[in-house]
Formats: sequence, structure tokens, C-alpha cells
Amino acid sequence: MRKETIKKKYGMGSNVRFMMAAARNVPSVPYLVAAQALTAVGISLLELFVTPVLLGKMEAHAALRELLLLIGGFTLGLICLRMLAAYIELNTLPGRVEVRMGIMNEIARKSAVCSYPLMEEPECQNRLAKAREVVQSNNEAAEAIWKTLYEILKNCIAFVICLFLLRDINFFLIVVTLVTTVLGYLVTNYISGWEYRHREEKAAVLRKMYYVQEKSQDRYLAKDVRIFGMGNWLRELLDGHLRLFEDFCKRREKKYLLADAIDVMLALLRNGIAYGYLTALTLRGELSAARFLLLFTAVGEFTEWVRGILSGFSVLHRQCLEISPIREYLDQEEIFRMEGGESLCIREGIPFEIELKNVTFRYPGADKPVLERLNLTIPWGEKLAVVGPNGAGKTTLVKLICGLYDPTEGEVLLNGVNVKRFNRREYYRLFAGVFQDFSVLAGSVLLNVSQDTDGDRKRAWDCLERAGAADKVRSLPRGLDTNMDKSVFNDAAEFSGGEMQRLMLARLLYRNSPIILLDEPTAALDAIAESDIYNRYRELTAGHTSVYISHRLASTGFCDRIILLENGGIAEEGTHEKLLAAGGRYAELFEMQSRYYQEGGEGNEQNTEESR
Ligand code: ADP
Repeated sequence: MRKETIKKKYGMGSNVRFMMAAARNVPSVPYLVAAQALTAVGISLLELFVTPVLLGKMEAHAALRELLLLIGGFTLGLICLRMLAAYIELNTLPGRVEVRMGIMNEIARKSAVCSYPLMEEPECQNRLAKAREVVQSNNEAAEAIWKTLYEILKNCIAFVICLFLLRDINFFLIVVTLVTTVLGYLVTNYISGWEYRHREEKAAVLRKMYYVQEKSQDRYLAKDVRIFGMGNWLRELLDGHLRLFEDFCKRREKKYLLADAIDVMLALLRNGIAYGYLTALTLRGELSAARFLLLFTAVGEFTEWVRGILSGFSVLHRQCLEISPIREYLDQEEIFRMEGGESLCIREGIPFEIELKNVTFRYPGADKPVLERLNLTIPWGEKLAVVGPNGAGKTTLVKLICGLYDPTEGEVLLNGVNVKRFNRREYYRLFAGVFQDFSVLAGSVLLNVSQDTDGDRKRAWDCLERAGAADKVRSLPRGLDTNMDKSVFNDAAEFSGGEMQRLMLARLLYRNSPIILLDEPTAALDAIAESDIYNRYRELTAGHTSVYISHRLASTGFCDRIILLENGGIAEEGTHEKLLAAGGRYAELFEMQSRYYQEGGEGNEQNTEESR
């Protein structure tokens, strides 16, 4: 059902129009296709006529001067057209590359801004892998299609001219030629659709292969790969995926070989009949030598052009099928309201209250919900701590609050209004967070702190100071302008886990959003730095609402309220003292942790402050 909708929506015409629209900013691309086709037809016609015309003149005993002039004219014409063709060919590449790059950028833009749950959907990831494949190189459909369009246009123009030339030879001959070529087209077309029909299988194999390749090259994993001896394991995985991919390619090539064999057989039949007929006419004296030569060459060219048109359409059909995943990816419906919607007024002094009402959340494909009928109100300015065992749903809760997920059931309300009604991009402006994964981009420290190409240096220093990262940045050779990310910049600075954590805190402060989300932000800090950061939290979160996920129950002292998540709901809530006094699960966890840290856990923690 879905397959049919996509096919209908992204037919050949529609995909060609998509490419034309993609070339809107580089209009030379389609014009050069037309110019290239006209030039190629001109060359073919000159080549077709040169010998029969000369032979005709010789048969008519034309003067030598006339013959030489004719030869000179043909030669000059051919030289001019060939030079023009070479000039056009030289100029086609940059424009075509630009169009392909434009589509690549569109795909990257969509990935960067689409609804967050889409990025976690395996189906969406498959579409993305396929779309990226189609724009990866010059030979892929997103660029090669222009060559196909040129071939089709050239053959169509030449076909019409040739039909005019052959108008007075046997009608049956034209029918045989057309029928055999159309038959060849239908067969090859069906067989070449095999790859599209197996596209899901191919994408799944490629996705796994790319994943293992990426992980093998990941410099952050390099330590574990060596220490745990994961190298052989990764190599075996890679070999396995490579074999699967090779097997897929072999099966595909067999199909294409069959298509080519059928095509060649039909071409033999077609040409045999045509040439036999013309030879018979000549032997009976019904054709002059010059006319025979013209028709003999024209029939050959005619079949070539008809084949050219049909095989061009066959290739175009395949390329359009390959282009479809780009459009399937770009046209994916957003889950969230990313455009339009109610707008939010975010200004200093405007209070925001968040309420989760009967919220149930289940990950796609999961047996049971992570959170079930959860009710929670976070008044403006509250510092809320979320604690609980691993997998209790703390991160999921934070993602629901900040609109990265929508509840499966129930509602998340902002000042009493369902957040689904707001423009999601605007809603995100309410939040700044430090999550467990660091999101550092290849760029200067200033860019990473300000997330702005024109960041305010004074403000950045102030935030770095407050986050405790200023000393580190001062020690760097180019200070705020020092680059980050060694995979792009050779001179990039190295940051330890803890230093990176503080940098992320500085980024959070720079953004100055009303609501602060801290998801175990001190996990990579050593014990001294950790207590330093805890002491700063009161100041960092002043004047903001904050939601703080922590495994260190002792660190929640700056919070107004603590909720303990367990079994999909809020098991306990209150202040640290109240929860300890209650002697429940929180008190039990606190007791366990206190013992752990007293017995040397801190020593272990210090080891986390290592170079990343
Ligand atoms: P916590 O932060 O309390 O450790 P999480 O919110 O990260 O817990 O996860 C809660 C549960 O949801 C876990 O069982 C985890 O395996 C599962 N989970 C988390 N993220 C995803 C995801 N993207 N897809 C499917 N399941 C997930």
C-alpha cells in the first residue's frame, strides 16, 4: 500500500521535475543538456550524410572542385561541431556537481532540523542511508541523470529526423524495428527494477556495514578497541557485512546480465531483418549505390537511436527509482509542528510552568511503557531533582519535558497549553541543557560556547568563568579562538571529560534560557571538580527553572524538590531531609551510595577525569 503511494507520488516525470527544480539556482545545467543534444545530433547527421552525398556526386560525375569543396565543407562542419561539443562537455561538470551538492545540503538540513523521534526511527535511518548514497558521487543518479536526459533528448531528435529519411521504405521494416526494441526495453526495464524492489535489503546491509566501519575508525572508541581486544571482533563483523553486500551485488549483476543478453538477441534479430531487406532491394536494382549507403547507415542509426531512446528511458526509470529515497526522506512528514503553530513569548520575567498530565510513554516496539500515567507539575523557578535506578526513565522524562518526544498518551502542558500547539522550534528556545553526550562541533571554543558565528567574547569569558572552564581556555595557545575537534583541525585542543563538561556548562549559561536541564552533567568530573560544580549549581540555576538528573543523591542539596522515579512512575517525592526521614527507597539508595563513596568510590571516580 505504502509502496504504491510512493511510486505514484514519485513517478518518473515527478522526479525529473524535482531535478529541474533542484537546478533552479544553476539554470545552465538544463540548457547545456539541450545544447549538448543538438550538437551531438548535428555531428551524427553530418557523419550520416557525408559518404552517401559524396558517392552520389561521384555517380553524377561532379567536378573535382565541387567534390573538394564538399569534403572541405563537411570537414569544417564536423570540426566546428566537435569543438563545440568538447567545449560544452567541459562546462557541464561544475553545474551538475553544484546541483548535487545542493541536494546534499538539503538532506543535511533536514537531518539537522527534523523531529527528533524521526532520527531514532530505523526506517528513517534507512531512507537517509539510501538518500546519501544517491548523492555521494558523480556517477550516482542525482548527477548522472543529466547525462541520461541528454541521451534521451539527442536520440529523440535524431529519431524524428531519421523517421523522415526512411519514410518511403518498407513500413513493415519500421514496425519490426520498433517492436523488437520496445520488447527489449520492457524486459530490461522489468529486470533492472530488481534493485529497487530489494532496496530495503540493500540499505539494511549498508547501514550495518557503515556502522561497523565508523566505529572501527572512531577515535573515542580507540581506547576500548585496544584494551578489550575488540579489533578482531570488529574485523570479523566487517568481513561478514562485506560478504553480505558482495552477495547482494552478485545477485543484482546476474539479473542485469540476463537483461543485457535478451537485449542483444533482439538487436541481432532486428538488424538482420533490416539489412537483409535493403540488400535484396539493391540486388534487384531498386536502389542506387548512394541511396543504398544512406539507407543502410540510416537503418543502423535508426535502430541505435530507437534503442538509445528506450534504454535512455530504462536508465532514467532506474535513476528515478534511485532518486525517490531522497524525496521520501525530504518529504517525510514531521511528527512535531516544526512550521506555523502558536508562537511563544519568551522574555525575562515571564513565568513558565510545565505540567505533565497522565503521561504515558512507550518507545516504538517496546513491550511496556517507560513511564505510565505520570503526573508532575514543575512551577516556575523550581529546582527539581530527578533520581532513580538506571533505566527508570529519567532521561526519557527530561526529553518529554523539553519536547524531544511527545507522550504516547497524556499531555505535556506549558502554562496550561498543550505543547503540541506551539511551534516546536520556538518551544526548544525555552531550554538549555547539558546532556550525557557532548555535542562539540569542529570550530573555535567561542563558536562552541556561543553557538553563533558572531559570538560575544566578553559574555563567553564570563560564562566560562562561572562554569570553571576559563583557566583551561586561557591556557590554550589561541584562547577563545582555539579550534576544537581533532578529526577536522590538526591543531585542535584536547579537552578532558571534565573540562568538556564545564565547557558545556558555559554554553548553557551563554544561552541563558528560562529552563535548565542537567542530565548527570558531572558524570565525567573528578571528585574535587564535582563538588566545585555542585557548589556552583545554586548560582547557575538562580532565576531559572531547572530539572537535574543525578545519580549522586548527595548532590541534590541545592534542589527544592526531589522525585524518585521507579516502575514507570514517581515512587517518592519531597526534600532530601523529608525523604531520608521517610526511610523509604530514597533513604535506602542514599545509604548505599554513602557507603560506596566512603569505601573508596571517590578514588574510582577520579579516574574518569582522563583525556578524551
Ligand atoms: P534512565 O535515564 O533513568 O537511566 P532512560 O530514560 O535512559 O533511563 O531509559 C529508560 C528505558 O527506556 C530503558 O529501559 C532504556 O533501555 C529505554 N530506552 C531509552 N532510550 C530508548 C530508545 N531510543 N529506544 C528504545 N528504548 C529506549
